[in-house]
Amino acid sequence: PTTPIWQFVLADAAARGDAPALVDGITGQTISYAQLAHMVERMAAGFAGIGVKPGDVVALHSPNTVLYPVVFYAASRAGATVTTLSALATAKDMAGQLADSGATLVVTVGALLPVALEAAGERPVWTCDRVEGHPSVQDLLAADGPAPDVAVDPAEDVAVLPYSSGTTALPKGVMLTHASIGVNLAQIDVLHTMGPEDRIVAVLPFFHIYGMTVLMNVALRKGATVVVLPRFDLLQFLDVLEQHRITRAYVAPPVVLALAKHPAVDGRDFSALSFILSAAAPLDAELAQVCADRLGVEIGQAYGMTELSPGTHLVPDGTARSAPPGTVGKLFPSTEARLVSVETGEDAGPGEEGEIWIRGPQRMKGYFGRPEETDTLIDADGWLHTGDIGTVDDDGWWFVVDRVKELIKYKGYQVAPAELEAVLLGSPDVADAAVIGVYDERGDEVPKAFVVRAPGSAATEDDVLAYVAEHTAPYKRVRRVEFIDAVPKAASGKILRRELRAKEREAAGQA
Ligand code: ATP
Ligand code: MG
Repeated sequence: PTTPIWQFVLADAAARGDAPALVDGITGQTISYAQLAHMVERMAAGFAGIGVKPGDVVALHSPNTVLYPVVFYAASRAGATVTTLSALATAKDMAGQLADSGATLVVTVGALLPVALEAAGERPVWTCDRVEGHPSVQDLLAADGPAPDVAVDPAEDVAVLPYSSGTTALPKGVMLTHASIGVNLAQIDVLHTMGPEDRIVAVLPFFHIYGMTVLMNVALRKGATVVVLPRFDLLQFLDVLEQHRITRAYVAPPVVLALAKHPAVDGRDFSALSFILSAAAPLDAELAQVCADRLGVEIGQAYGMTELSPGTHLVPDGTARSAPPGTVGKLFPSTEARLVSVETGEDAGPGEEGEIWIRGPQRMKGYFGRPEETDTLIDADGWLHTGDIGTVDDDGWWFVVDRVKELIKYKGYQVAPAELEAVLLGSPDVADAAVIGVYDERGDEVPKAFVVRAPGSAATEDDVLAYVAEHTAPYKRVRRVEFIDAVPKAASGKILRRELRAKEREAAGQA
């Protein structure tokens, strides 16, 4: 693609006329494709009118709303780089990202104004909705005439500056050019189809690269109808699936977990739904199967990371039932992948595990303002070292085991927390679980499970230890269990193991 992303995504929007583009899942407010095209053009002219110019960074701080994509593409259309922020960000985290990204304008929503104002300092703050005493981007829609033409160099100019999730280290600004995003959309097209007949539900956050890609860029380019929800609430989500006759759902593993285990799922009509895609974190194959059977749908996975715009692997359309359980899919076209042994640095042999290395045109330009960290991630030959352990079978189906950094080293063995979490989720006593490595009295690293009991369960630590022992190899046994109310997870669906480690350190400090 040699066009800016707003042009690539919205190329056919005006011609789609009255077809619904964005529907508020709660109020029903609808923006048609023609309106979307028109509003983006107007708001972009408005942005230019208030001084937004090519190269500026506009910060978008909002939960999912029907206006979110309008602001996103309008700022891009005006030539700005968009940096997206979680609606759950604290003022401190937000201030950090605003400073780090060099944002000059903040767009938020009324409900988040206190946080945004505290974080923004001198920067102007606009709201999406209308809030008395504050400028609203809706006023920009009154701008006359088309947006000015801005020159974009798709291969060089940064379209979006999302931040990595900060699961393993501090979040880093990831420079994604118009070309890297566009090429990834074209790659996704080869393996995955979405069309005007599709109705999808936007419950993943737009601010995170996964939601941004599938729920905005792919969906709006393909003419699908996007039913927007501000956050994940199971009952609301189920209502939307039924009432809007959602055809495809894009989710993260916690939603699959809820769909597999929650009683509220029974007795509903999911006849329109045919496919669920899960990505962003490891998904247990058995859990996925339970969910697929219960809803009568296919479930497939995708794999990627912010630094790869984000996709590299996807279970192709129509293959989820025949694909091997647990696979993250096939490698994207025009993408190279290797598995490299973490111990020896040599390519892994057939069937062996290794760190996944990727080379392809969807790779980021670099971390913003962090050249050393870019060089640590991407080697001199252009291979990006993902930090994830994987395998591939003879038919080219890929599997992700877990992150290198999360592996627990138990007496010379490597134990993947994701694998133990999957075992734990198989127990009827367990509603949710997370595993980390802790040190025992002898200084050995051992797996410890944090477990949320299933409703009504009175399982003890010994019950859980015995269950895991029965279902896994001796060296992988969980050695400790702590019961908790909820597993800490990021908005993108990832388990925040570092929060559990902090909890552990705190407890050790008190002891
Ligand atoms: P940070 O890099 O800031 O610590 P992060 O890696 O969680 O955060 P993202 O770019 O949002 O930030 O996530 C990419 C990571 O998500 C991958 O490296 C991988 O560990 C995980 N991931 C994505 N898809 C899958 C999947 N299908 N199965 C297992 N893990 C996945
Ligand atoms: Mg990462």
